[in-house]
Amino acid sequence: MSKILYVSSEAFPLIKTGGLADVAGSLPIALSNLSEDIRLLLPAYPQVMQQTENVKQLASGTYYNFKVSLLETQLPNSKVPVWLVHCPAAFDRPGSPYMDSDGQPWHDNALRFAVFCKVAVDIAMNKLNLRWQPDIVHGNDWQSGLIPALLQPCKQRPATVFTIHNLAYQGLFNYQTFLDLELPAELWHPDALEFHDQLSFIKGGLVFSDRINAVSPTYAHEILQPKYGNGLSGLLQHRQTRLSGILNGIDHSIWNPATDPHLAACYDTTTLDQKSVNKLALQKQFDLPIDAKIPLIGMISRMVEQKGLDIILQGMAEMLAMPLQLVILGTGDIHYEMQLMEWSRKYPERLKVIIGYNEPLSHLIEAGSDLFLMPSAFEPCGLNQLYSLRYGTLPIVRNVGGLADTVIDASKQNRANATANGFVVTHQSSTALLTTLKHALTLYALPEAWRQLQLTAMNGDFSWAHSAKHYIELYQQALADRDQTAD
Ligand code: ADP
Repeated sequence: MSKILYVSSEAFPLIKTGGLADVAGSLPIALSNLSEDIRLLLPAYPQVMQQTENVKQLASGTYYNFKVSLLETQLPNSKVPVWLVHCPAAFDRPGSPYMDSDGQPWHDNALRFAVFCKVAVDIAMNKLNLRWQPDIVHGNDWQSGLIPALLQPCKQRPATVFTIHNLAYQGLFNYQTFLDLELPAELWHPDALEFHDQLSFIKGGLVFSDRINAVSPTYAHEILQPKYGNGLSGLLQHRQTRLSGILNGIDHSIWNPATDPHLAACYDTTTLDQKSVNKLALQKQFDLPIDAKIPLIGMISRMVEQKGLDIILQGMAEMLAMPLQLVILGTGDIHYEMQLMEWSRKYPERLKVIIGYNEPLSHLIEAGSDLFLMPSAFEPCGLNQLYSLRYGTLPIVRNVGGLADTVIDASKQNRANATANGFVVTHQSSTALLTTLKHALTLYALPEAWRQLQLTAMNGDFSWAHSAKHYIELYQQALADRDQTAD
């Protein structure tokens, strides 16, 4: 059994903006079930405080002149302790954890997450009298990137693991910020935190961690290439022997069509006919023509270029000329939101666009759709295609990252050997997307073939069972690497 401090800037159900929250809310539970002694460290945002009960203060201190206390609560529906960094000056503000109401990053994000990282370092070095020193500190994404950099010179430090959920978000700030944060001067170096004259939080994780992993094997390979490396492929090549890929799992207690409380009708592989009740409920809710036979395509996404919005919009006219319905839930770049709304005004009987973040609706869309649209230009792992598979909603995806690792195209051969579970678009173009969509619609018209694809999708195992064990192996490797470095 290892003692693990799992550090994340979001965790479902306490606070969520994307896939990181789903992972941070479920992997610690899976590791705890495997008898690991794991604690989750999270900023005490107002949304988190509102949901927590029986909060106990463990320690307090001053970081960058801010008063900070460390509070303890529990991850809902689990025994995993959550330690909250309670620093009102940094975290007690409404809305997104990362952005202000204009959609701009909070002006003091560097300072906010430097406070978070410094508290993690003090826990890691047992400076807060908690009578619990981790063996492993496991950071996630740029918000925890400073931790390995600050721990590196410490004697008797824990081993460090850093997970890349998305290399496109790096936490870049100017040199003055580096000075203001009073980081050790030697960290201002291209072999440390400096990145083209900027301070890079994520480099702290990539340069200094004992082990790095990406959230799928294919993405771990892709980021070694300049095309997917966001300027960091050279560094990652240099650290290649320490880099691996572990596919994210999904939490079956939350994403399970047999028990999901947000559905109009629950179902499993033996009651698949019930799935269409959800489709009718969606059509009713959104004033679409009620028709169990028309193929309904769902999409739930941050509206950003990464998610393939460009090729969807380019192909929209042709797509909406086909006999189908499209329901899109998401929020993000305003120009995508506006273009989609414009299309939905023109084609109210075909397209419904819901701008916003809506967890219960996301479950109903997963259940009520026949196909799920996810033609990402890159995708570190992707969770929605995994939820779709579980709900018998066949995903249409690009062959990149975690999508390539989980979705097997319904080609003739793959259908013959019963491995097919979705549809793969082989190029990032609207033409390729439309070709794949037409193929999907052809198969949709063949109920027996369709049902076989659905059953293969639903019978796939993407639970944390395998991946959590891979993390335990990774922790062992990190401990060995740390000891070797210390020798
Ligand atoms: P990413 O982390 O890049 O946004 P993922 O597929 O890994 O993409 O995870 C996205 C998670 O966020 C999924 O759980 C998805 O259902 C959820 N999500 C994204 N947008 C919305 C939304 N508008 N409403 C509800 N859930 C959303």
